Order: sequence, then structure tokens, then C-alpha cells
Amino acid sequence: MKPSVPGSLNAPLVTAEIGAAAMPAAGKARGLRFLVVEDHPLQRQMLVVALRAIGAEKIDEAAEGREALQILLGAEPRVDVVVCDLDMPNMDGMAFIRHLGGSTEQPTLIVTSALDPGLLSSVETMARAYGIRLLGTIEKPATPDKLALLLLGQDSSPRSSAKSAPQTLNESEVIAALEEDRIVPYFQPKVALSTGALVGAEALARLRHPERGILSPASFIALVEQLGLIDRLTWSMLRQSAAACATWQRQGLDITVSVNLSQGSLADPSLAGRITSLVSRQHLDPRKMVLEITESAAMTEVGPALENLTRLRMKGFGLSIDDFGTGYSSMQQLSRIPFTELKIDRSFVSGAENHAQRKIILESSNDLARRLGIKSVAEGVETQGEWDELMRVGCAIAQGYFIAQPMPAAEFLAWALNWGQQKLQR
Ligand code: C2E
Ligand code: CA
Ligand code: CA
Repeated sequence: MKPSVPGSLNAPLVTAEIGAAAMPAAGKARGLRFLVVEDHPLQRQMLVVALRAIGAEKIDEAAEGREALQILLGAEPRVDVVVCDLDMPNMDGMAFIRHLGGSTEQPTLIVTSALDPGLLSSVETMARAYGIRLLGTIEKPATPDKLALLLLGQDSSPRSSAKSAPQTLNESEVIAALEEDRIVPYFQPKVALSTGALVGAEALARLRHPERGILSPASFIALVEQLGLIDRLTWSMLRQSAAACATWQRQGLDITVSVNLSQGSLADPSLAGRITSLVSRQHLDPRKMVLEITESAAMTEVGPALENLTRLRMKGFGLSIDDFGTGYSSMQQLSRIPFTELKIDRSFVSGAENHAQRKIILESSNDLARRLGIKSVAEGVETQGEWDELMRVGCAIAQGYFIAQPMPAAEFLAWALNWGQQKLQR
């Protein structure tokens, strides 16, 4: 099938109006090359017209996956954005997405479909699992406004060939960082949904690298675990976080600090005792510290893990079940560990207001927390829509970029004071 050029439609069957939402994307669309993959001729034409309405000039068309793959391989300059239907003959959209994930060409993707939103959301997850950068899904009919909104997420700079995998470090870099205390906690605020009050902070490990700057756990935690050094990292985080929290208390900021505990650390039955003496040395009340445990961490070495967790709870520490809902035995963990907090995984929070399934999962998780008499915390809250949805389901606490990014201890206090004042002014 030939690429269509502007004005080549002999019968303008379809016209498209450009709305306000489409305006900022117009400039962006002009510089990009699109490929529309859709078996239904009229639908395909509607897509082409909608793309033109937002300024797109270079648009190729294909009626099914195989044809699309051929166009992609031969295209020069390369295709930037593929707009793809799911239900097509020969190679359908799902198979096409799989091939796209395996190919060296990595355009971004927009999926259009008449399928119900639940199915579209599974396709979204599938595309991400195949390594495709998905701009989003559109329920048919696709309009210029819907396309324009998704295109706002498209990076208009030339595509880099490498996927942005976290840069991993080598052994000696990690060991040096641990020895020189260059792995430090950044603190991310946790606020009460009902009042907006700051109630705590989660400590998230960051590595200060002499050349590469501040690195996230994705580039070092796995290596630290492999090297058998996780206990040192946990310990350093606990010490620095307890010290920070003790400082906050002295400054009149009565909030908790949460620290992530790794699998390896829980296997040592002496852990609880050591943490208890640590906070006592820092003059911090154990009730001000929450230990976050992922389901998988709680699962290995059941005996020592349960001994540690029960003892910590007895001493007054808070215990949080992290990434709730992502493991395969959440309920079992909840029934045997005395948790005080349930942390709902970001995957259920993200875009919840527009996803029927996620709404139901949020409702049930909150219901579960309420009936167990423990606090529910939503992580990864990024938008007003998500915040409102969490209010609706009665979630207690929120954490995420919508409130603030994780920040160094030195910035946290100033942020907290400012946040408190903003609240007073409301
Ligand atoms: P986690 O415990 O689930 O932490 C939440 C992660 O989500 C953090 O990533 C945080 O920066 C990020 N995040 C917070 N708000 C948002 C948001 O609104 N949107 C998005 N997209 N992300 C958000 P980070 O800091 O990269 O940490 C990743 C994971 O590394 C953590 O996941 C935790 O499992 C692990 N980790 C972090 N610090 C430590 C540590 O001191 N010890 C151990 N064992 N693991 C740690
Ligand atoms: Ca956590
Ligand atoms: Ca989590």
C-alpha cells in the first residue's frame, strides 16, 4: 500500500475538526513519520485524516501486521509513531506488537480499538512487557483530540537507538560507595488524604557517584544483594534514617520514617534486637519507625523472618506490607505477619480513575485494610485524578510525585515546613 500524501484523498469521505487539545501537539506531529495499521478502509482513512488535522505530513498505511513490518523495515527516515488496530486478519495487532518488541526498529505505539477498556488495559501491559514504548490506547472512534493528547507524550527529539536501561555499576564501585557512606537515603513524603497533613517519609536509597551523579536503586541494589552486602546497605539506611527522624522530632516534626528491608536481612534472627538497640541509641521511639517488607522478602526463611517481625512489632515498630497485590501470596502474608500498614502497589494506583478493574482492586484493598484495622497507603500517586479516586475509596495515606519526589535529608525539613504553611493558607 502506498504512503498517502497530503491532499491525495480523491473523495473526502471523512473530515476532522481540530479542537483546543490538539493545538500543542500540532507542531510535534509535523516533524514525525507515522504508520497507520488498520484493516478497515474507512477506519484507516479516518485515522489518516485525524492525523493530518493535527499537522502530520508523513503517514504510511498498512492493512495488517505483516505489511506493516515490511514498511517499517524499509522506511527511511524511520517511522516514529505506529498507530495500530488490534483486530486484523493475518497478523493481528497482538502478534504485530510482539514482532515490534523484537525488532531493532523501536517506534512508539498508539493502540486503537473498539474493545472494552479492560481488554485495552491488558494490551497496554502486554506491550510494555514486550519493551514497547506505548503512548496510550484510544477507544474508537479515534479523533484528532484523542491522538493529540497522546502525542504530547512523544519525545520530539531524534530517537536514540539504545533503550534507557539503568546503567549498572561494577563491584568495586559499589563496595567503595558503601565504604565511603555514599549510599544515602532520599526521603519521600507520605501525607494523609483526608487532611493533607504530612505523616511520614519513606527512605529510598540513592548512590552518589563521583562521575554519574545520583543513581537509583535499579542500578545497584541487585548487585549489592549478589555480593552478599545487602545487610550493610540495610544497616546504613537504618542508621541514617533513624538519625534523620530523630532530628525531625527535635525540630517539632512528629512524623514516622519508613525503611525498606531486604530478603537477606530478615533471615538473621538477631536483626530485630539490633534494630531495637539502634533506635534506642538515636533516642528514637520505635513507634516512629516503619519497616517495609515486600511479600517475597517475607516469604523466604519463614522461621527467622517471623521471629524478627513479631519481635519488632512487640517493640512498637510499624510493619508495612510493600507492593501489596503483586506477589502470589499476599493474603497468606497478611494472615501470619502482624502488619500495621498495607502499601498498595503503584500498578493499581496508576490511572485508576479510568480503569474499572483497578478501581475495584483499590476498593477491595482499602476495605481489607480497614477491616484488618491497619492503614492503607497508596504509592506512586502522580495525578489529581488518582488522588481524587483514592479519596473516594477511603484510602488513608498517599505517596508519590503528585505530592513530592524523594529528596535529600537537607531539603526535606524545608519542604515539610513549606508544605505545612501551604496547608494553613488553604
Ligand atoms: P519501593 O519500595 O516500591 O519504592 C517506591 C519507588 O517508587 C521508588 O523508586 C520511588 O522513587 C518511586 N516513586 C515514588 N513516587 C512515584 C511516582 O509518583 N511515580 C513513579 N513512577 N514512581 C514513584 P526507587 O527509589 O527507584 O526505588 C525502587 C525500589 O528499590 C524500591 O521500591 C525498593 O524496593 C528498592 N529500595 C529502595 N531503597 C531501598 C533500600 O534502602 N533497601 C532495599 N532493600 N531496597 C530499597
Ligand atoms: Ca517501599
Ligand atoms: Ca512499592
